[in-house]
Amino acid sequence: MEKNVFWEKFISSLSATISNVSFNTWFNDMKLYDLNDEKILLTVPYDSIKDHLINNYYEILEDIITNILGINLKIDFLLESDIRKEKNINIDDQENNNEIEYYKYYSNFNKKYTFENFVVGNSNRFAYSSAVAVAEKPGKLYNPLFLYGKSGLGKTHLMHAIGNYIKKNSNKKVLYITTEQFVNDFVNINKKDTGNNITYIEMFKKKYRNVDVLMIDDIQFLGSATMSQQEFTNTFNSLYDNEKQIIISSDRSVDDLKLLEDRLKTRFNWGLKADINPPDYELKRKIIEKKITNEDLLLNLNNDIIDYIAANCGNDVRNLEGFLIRLMAYQAIMNINTLTLEDSMEALKDYTNNPIYSNNTIAGIQNVVAKYFKVSVDDLKGKKKHKAIIQARQIAMYLCRMMTEETYPRIGLEFGGKDHSTIIYAYEKINNEIKHNGQLKLIVEELKQQIKS
Ligand code: ADP
Ligand code: MG
Repeated sequence: MEKNVFWEKFISSLSATISNVSFNTWFNDMKLYDLNDEKILLTVPYDSIKDHLINNYYEILEDIITNILGINLKIDFLLESDIRKEKNINIDDQENNNEIEYYKYYSNFNKKYTFENFVVGNSNRFAYSSAVAVAEKPGKLYNPLFLYGKSGLGKTHLMHAIGNYIKKNSNKKVLYITTEQFVNDFVNINKKDTGNNITYIEMFKKKYRNVDVLMIDDIQFLGSATMSQQEFTNTFNSLYDNEKQIIISSDRSVDDLKLLEDRLKTRFNWGLKADINPPDYELKRKIIEKKITNEDLLLNLNNDIIDYIAANCGNDVRNLEGFLIRLMAYQAIMNINTLTLEDSMEALKDYTNNPIYSNNTIAGIQNVVAKYFKVSVDDLKGKKKHKAIIQARQIAMYLCRMMTEETYPRIGLEFGGKDHSTIIYAYEKINNEIKHNGQLKLIVEELKQQIKS
């Protein structure tokens, strides 16, 4: 088989086998060096990538090759620098140019992580809008953009969405990198042969400073790498001075990045900081609905199942996706046409510690209370000041505190993002009132019965 043909098949099969992110991280720069009857030689840029591939991907690659060629070949990974040595080429100008070409790599973004696929709710609206604004006018509005929030809430998704958007709508150069990659890259540059060091450092600089948009994901990992931190500060300054967009993500706020130098933190404070909070129940429902309409997931879930997942999947959207994948697998393995709530509970039983049935959740309580007082759930979550609505709202808050394990802040979040002090106030108010208001006490008892049933 011709080398090119083989390579095309190989790349397409590999990219279909692993996630886009893994592909981009580990295989973007891999090249076919040689293919013969005994082995296949692949080049990679760094030792760290080579080690990672040998330890984590060897079998996958072997399988793919066997599938394409019908024979089992040994795979050898070569470093690009080894090949240069082998060819006995000094780093002259021409070589230098090639290297720079190599370093001018711009990221490929995960096609699934787009703005369209990002479901917006109260907890992430600000971060989402900021990301869109920056994607529309990189370098002009908010620089840097600092996105932060707990793991699994969509930071990486938003960064890729920005990347996809800019690539589609302009020819700006966008580089996305994880902090880990940045540090590895920097450490490797410094490990390279002495003598030509300067050139490598120059190349490193070119790679990071010749872009229009630099995104660096999970900056909290920069903390313990002092040298890399310095280099990142230099990179930051250079880009910032040239009005290039910088986008940073972090699992904590700027103030909580304890290991980062103050001068870097000061810079992060120059721009816009946007936090992402855990999704509320409504948003979780919407995300589930969105994900199951995606063609990758052949799932048809009724409302009860969606409620059940939203109530039990916790706050990490990654976990929510895990539930859906688990359901899909269960459906396939058990050969079920349409899952029932019972099927779903069975499928997820190892994943949910204390399963919550949908009535006895904040959303369930809100529904019962809204129906009882003939108001809408939105009224309960909203800010309307009619006396009747206020009372219904406070009773609902009280019942949520009484009948679920949820914390005050969590309940506040589910009531349209109210402060926890509002919930405490409502709880205490109703708790006191029922002591001397017999009618209210009856209403609350009646509601409790309805919620339990
Ligand atoms: P983080 O980088 O904050 O840890 P990710 O961006 O990796 O989180 O998100 C984890 C998963 O959850 C991804 O598959 C992402 O697509 C999904 N996700 C998170 N938030 C949303 C959302 N609002 N809408 C759709 N998918 C989301
Ligand atoms: Mg992430």
